[in-house]
Amino acid sequence: MKINFIDLQAQYKKYEKEINSEVLEVFASAQFIGGEKLNSLEKNLAVYTGAKHAIGCSSGTDALLLSLMALDIGVGDEVITTPFTFIATAEVVALLGAKSVFVDIDEESYNIDPSKIEAAITKKTKAIIPVSLYGQCADMKAINDIAKKYSITVIEDACQSFGATYRGKKSCNLSTISCTSFFPSKPLGAYGDGGAIFTDNDELATKMRMLLNHGQNERYKHKYIGINGRLDAVQAAILNVKLKHFEEEVRLRDEIGSRYSDLLEDADVITPKIAEASTSVYAQYSIRVKDREAMVEKLSKLGVPTAVHYPVPLHMQEAFKDLGYSIGDFPISELVSKEIMSLPMSAYLSEAEQDFVVQAIKG
Ligand SMILES: *Cc1c(COP(=O)(O)O)cnc(C)c1O
Repeated sequence: MKINFIDLQAQYKKYEKEINSEVLEVFASAQFIGGEKLNSLEKNLAVYTGAKHAIGCSSGTDALLLSLMALDIGVGDEVITTPFTFIATAEVVALLGAKSVFVDIDEESYNIDPSKIEAAITKKTKAIIPVSLYGQCADMKAINDIAKKYSITVIEDACQSFGATYRGKKSCNLSTISCTSFFPSKPLGAYGDGGAIFTDNDELATKMRMLLNHGQNERYKHKYIGINGRLDAVQAAILNVKLKHFEEEVRLRDEIGSRYSDLLEDADVITPKIAEASTSVYAQYSIRVKDREAMVEKLSKLGVPTAVHYPVPLHMQEAFKDLGYSIGDFPISELVSKEIMSLPMSAYLSEAEQDFVVQAIKG
């Protein structure tokens, strides 16, 4: 059996007619940047998440960058985040000359441990970026409460959690600013790069809209130093089609994730733990195994692709050596990064494929 890690082709086949027709409309209109498709996507994203403003942009990375720029974060400022994430979360902090201060993760959720945040706050702390990893939201209430006490802004890195819920609310509507990614393999994926920023704050929304368009609100009148961070109309058109079917895909992903956990209950692996008041969108279905190398090799021989998100925590990356951290500083992140591995996951993984993966793990 040949199994795809993420089956984007099956998804395209399903929506092919709708996607083709939407994309052809963009071609015919020659409105390639901005325009009706983008406006409509932004409205739909706001309705879906419940956030007042949804702003399309060029990627999840740029969404994070624009958020920090909107808060005027730069040299001399500190931003608290987790070392167990994709590099983009902390990369943007460094790009602006600010400093990432890492806080270890919780061993069950793999998200930032709120009980360790206060000890990391200093007078320089301007923002906290909790990452909602693998599709489950960080403990946003606890984080928001701490942030409020110290007047710090919370930016949810929701690049993997679009579609997840936390205490009855959607990810991307749980903090002052939220950022998501439409990278093709994310839960809601474009056919290229893309992202979005969410906020209820009118001023921040206006500023971020200007920042992603070279800091201008009128052509050639530049109020800020910005970037070219726009989402193009072709991606917006494709995302609009996929968003229409997204709730159904979220339901399927939830079923498949839960089924994995049921089937793997008696296997010698640690399955994801989803908090009671949360739902996961399973951007990744990640398990922990003691001897990961052996497991990866065994599955690979049987034709089961796997991936490791993430093998090296950020405090141990060469790019962040100037932060001055050492091995041993974040023991849970280090432990999890040694044991974690992701299994094939998409809304179109069949039961037969899933059974095959599970048998391969147990065999
Ligand atoms: C994918 C991802 C990003 C970056 O998104 P891009 O659209 O690839 O720039 C940032 N943070 C996390 C946690 C991600 O998974």
